[in-house]
Amino acid sequence: MDMLHGACACGDVRFRLSSMPMFVHCCHCRDCQRQTGSAFVLNALIETDRIHLDSGTLSRVPLPTASGRPHDVYRCPACQTALWSDYGGRPGLRFVRVGTLEESARLVPDAHIFTRSKLPWVVLPPGAFAFEVYYDQAKLWPPESLARRHALGV
Ligand SMILES: [Zn+2]
Ligand SMILES: [Zn+2]
Repeated sequence: MDMLHGACACGDVRFRLSSMPMFVHCCHCRDCQRQTGSAFVLNALIETDRIHLDSGTLSRVPLPTASGRPHDVYRCPACQTALWSDYGGRPGLRFVRVGTLEESARLVPDAHIFTRSKLPWVVLPPGAFAFEVYYDQAKLWPPESLARRHALGV
């Protein structure tokens, strides 16, 4: 397939995704708003071993969470762009920041989560899956994505 390529702002870190992600979240929670300084974050959920680092290194920055579960964000040490996160201490699963991909428009959110703190001027597309907090993965994820996730054991 034609791979999705991504990079940090300064270009030291370059990477590729070797497949499409399992699922894409648009998260409107207060943590994501604060950490990005924006209205929401776009996360592509993908197996860690499907992210290929072509150049650069990453620094791991632990962040506090409302739930108390670990959240480590991986950043370029030079420009501090956040490239992906490990939510919940699951080494096999990464949440890639969609905005770091060259062709970010190819990944459309599969679900909007934590819309209870969505900024009021953000208007979701008609028919978009949207949840006040979270949702049931078994009901919403495509079967092939669920199988990939089960293969990770997470
Ligand atoms: Zn950089
Ligand atoms: Zn969030």
